[in-house]
Amino acid sequence: MSGHVIPMLLILALHHLLISPVVAYTALSDHFLQLVPSGGADFDIDNGKLLAPILIPRVAGTPGQTAAQQHFVNFFAKELPKWNIEWFNSTSTTPVTGDKQVPFANLLFKREPPWVQQGQSNLLTLVAHYDSKIYPEGFIGATDSAVPCAILMHVARTLDKFLTQMHDEMAALGEGGTVPMDMGVQILLLDGEEAFKQWTDTDSLYGARALAETWENSVHPAMSFYRNPLDQISMFVLLDLLGSANPTVPSFFQTTHWAYKAMATIEGRMRKLGLLESVPQRPFLPDLEKETTTFYRGFIEDDHKPFMARGVPVLHVIASPFPKVWHTMDDDGAHLDMPTVRDWAKIVTAFALEWLDMMEVEPKEDGEAPVTS
Ligand SMILES: [Zn+2]
Repeated sequence: MSGHVIPMLLILALHHLLISPVVAYTALSDHFLQLVPSGGADFDIDNGKLLAPILIPRVAGTPGQTAAQQHFVNFFAKELPKWNIEWFNSTSTTPVTGDKQVPFANLLFKREPPWVQQGQSNLLTLVAHYDSKIYPEGFIGATDSAVPCAILMHVARTLDKFLTQMHDEMAALGEGGTVPMDMGVQILLLDGEEAFKQWTDTDSLYGARALAETWENSVHPAMSFYRNPLDQISMFVLLDLLGSANPTVPSFFQTTHWAYKAMATIEGRMRKLGLLESVPQRPFLPDLEKETTTFYRGFIEDDHKPFMARGVPVLHVIASPFPKVWHTMDDDGAHLDMPTVRDWAKIVTAFALEWLDMMEVEPKEDGEAPVTS
């Protein structure tokens, strides 16, 4: 159990790690991939525990926003008590609400090894926005982004028991606190992604802009391993517009293409092993072999923008072209493709397990109950 760094190689490796975001994790075994749960009935659109409660309008400043917040906070408080819960509140005027200060609240859920000091861990950062668009009235935003939020709850729940086991084993071996590259995970459910009137720099990304700016100025104590909370983000994995059938998620950024390849490889292995339900025309993540010369300069504006502008590495997992239901009343539960939803849940969960080096605590081939949803 040594996190990402083998102690013997520490001195040699440390210099390298300081200048390059290399992650040297072990790929999940076929056996481990087979144990990754899909979430199953918890994604049911009528009474599923994770998704159904947030298939409602969730506009900032309305009761739906409060209901969604309570859903997330209650889930973590009750089922995942080892996760730290933090509210990040901000307010802003919008082009359609006059002088009123509209309240935005990002919800931050974090799990680190229990021994880490402030600014010591690097954090796999999984992100989705939970607000919905104010128009058309009654808009649900199932793919945008209720499903991504529910997927991240499922990921957290699945990671939780493995994280506990890993931390316990590291502590028992006396490794806790000895590794400078301690890893943690945080889930950011962001508010105010949608424009109220028309997408501009100031009418969009309300929650993300406030958070990125504050984190840039939240400098850790002088001897901390990482300078500020932005610096701690090992990868900003943003999920958006997921849940329609036959999605295509391109690789947007050459600098993080290696992380895209890790996720695409997991998808391919899971398909080969018969672990995914959907039968898409092509893989969800088709750019495994993308040439380094074919990356565009442009990108889709989304919550990663204020983070990327501050140097945070980003993996943008967004269907492009957008789903046909995008920003219409049809982006509701009934128009989701449930095999696709469950497959995304599996792929993202496996990606997080692999990133966090969970082969260290791989369940045994027999004798242990498989992971259930
Ligand atoms: Zn949207």
